[in-house]
Amino acid sequence: MKEIKLFINGEFKNSSHGAKHISKDSARGEAIASIHLPSEEDIERAVESAHKAFYSQEWKDCDQNKRADFLLAISEKIKERKNEIIEWEIKDSGSTVRKAKADVHNAASYFKVLSKVTRQFQFTEKDEQASRESFSENFREYAPVGVCAQIIPWNFPLVMAAWKIGPVIATGCTTVLKSALETPITANILAEIIQEVGVPAGVVNIITGGAAVGELLVNNPLISKVGFTGSTEVGRKIMKSASGTVKKLSLELGGKSANIILDDADLNMAVDGALYAFLYHSGQACDSGTRLLVQEGIYNEFIQKFTQRIAEVKVGVPEDPTTGMGPVINENQYNRIIDYIQTTKNEGAKLIYGGERLVGGAFDKGYYIKPTAFEITPDNTIWHEEIFGPVVGITKFQTKEEAVELANNSIYGLAGAVWSKDEQKARSVASQLEAGTVWINEYHLLNPGMPFGGFKQSGQGREMGIEGLHAYLEVRHIWRSDCNSREQKQWFDAIF
Ligand code: NAD
Repeated sequence: MKEIKLFINGEFKNSSHGAKHISKDSARGEAIASIHLPSEEDIERAVESAHKAFYSQEWKDCDQNKRADFLLAISEKIKERKNEIIEWEIKDSGSTVRKAKADVHNAASYFKVLSKVTRQFQFTEKDEQASRESFSENFREYAPVGVCAQIIPWNFPLVMAAWKIGPVIATGCTTVLKSALETPITANILAEIIQEVGVPAGVVNIITGGAAVGELLVNNPLISKVGFTGSTEVGRKIMKSASGTVKKLSLELGGKSANIILDDADLNMAVDGALYAFLYHSGQACDSGTRLLVQEGIYNEFIQKFTQRIAEVKVGVPEDPTTGMGPVINENQYNRIIDYIQTTKNEGAKLIYGGERLVGGAFDKGYYIKPTAFEITPDNTIWHEEIFGPVVGITKFQTKEEAVELANNSIYGLAGAVWSKDEQKARSVASQLEAGTVWINEYHLLNPGMPFGGFKQSGQGREMGIEGLHAYLEVRHIWRSDCNSREQKQWFDAIF
């Protein structure tokens, strides 16, 4: 069994009150990790260590090139340890082999891209337009926002930790990151890597715990910024807590993304795309395409191919490389999904496929749900509420204007997609969607150079892209005067 200690001030330590939590394998329910749970005192020590590191000369002296070197070294170490990380990610989060491999690749390439961006970023720049000859030179200076508290969910443990820690190192901030109680292992491996590549002690601290640990972090007055990924419900609570000391916020929250299939789409591709959009990681992805809008001209043919292809998705144990969809994370999540399925049935929606638990053999050791599809309307609960499971609601529409209206009928705005062979038409629909990422003839793919985040109640701010760096920076305007005689400074006369 793996032991997950607290990573505070560059060292792995036992919890001061000795409390532990046992983390279980998603597919088998077997104990795989013993986690040291931080006491209130440990949490304070972690924040103080991040605070001390932020003001230390050592971290101030780490210029952008040195910080870029750390990011590149982390990327290399992730690649070196990829087999071990993949194995733990599969056990800890129920990721399939293919998903775990993609996650490790994505985390490594994110650190590499960020390293390049960090090296090239202009931390000081003169604004030629604002500056006036013989009057003033005006500069923007970008400064790290300070000590951060970062909180991540359980669905993409390594990638979420990478997206949080990357910009902290890039900008010269420091952090206490709290990984999810359900999936602490790969963030802990990342802590080992961070220690190994020589990031100064205290710059990155990693602890694990539940809501109470997260709350203590968010409420700590030494924290300047909270970076949170999780549900909209918890995001709302964090906004309230952060208001006490006006902490800066980045919130990556829930979604109910619309996947729009227009009449002229490549039908076979759109069917596979629609399945990939809502079944990837058993639907436990924030950007899942869980509202599938299909134009009436192809509706019947689409549904026929969709029901044929959905039956071909292999549900199985995650470590089998041929598995397309594994279990959901745990019993709580299983109950939540089954409740939503039952509610939708009770509401009279037509069940097109699935709608039940898979049982027998290896299925009995984990929580496996059949890929599930209903025909729904905006009157159904699952039109509006995020399930976070392998469940899609399908709706027929007539015109593209109606599709846009339906797609935007949500409190969320994280992502969406349009499938069509007519590029102009697809672009026009895409540009009307209230969503932070819109794919055309694609789904789920992300680019570390481009921003990711939500419109509306899907969040605030962006991760990745240059926007993700700015989220961890304050801007300081430096005004250097060229009016060096008292006669020139007529504005002083306002008080004389
Ligand atoms: P969650 O909101 O329950 O928990 C997320 C994290 O917050 C966990 O680490 C948890 O311990 C912590 N937490 C819970 N209550 C807290 C509180 N009161 N104060 C501080 N921290 C608290 O979410 P989850 O069930 O772990 O993850 C699923 C959710 O995450 C979904 O809604 C999903 O859409 C969202 N998500 C969003 C993105 C994105 O980029 N937008 C990515 C992944 C997941």
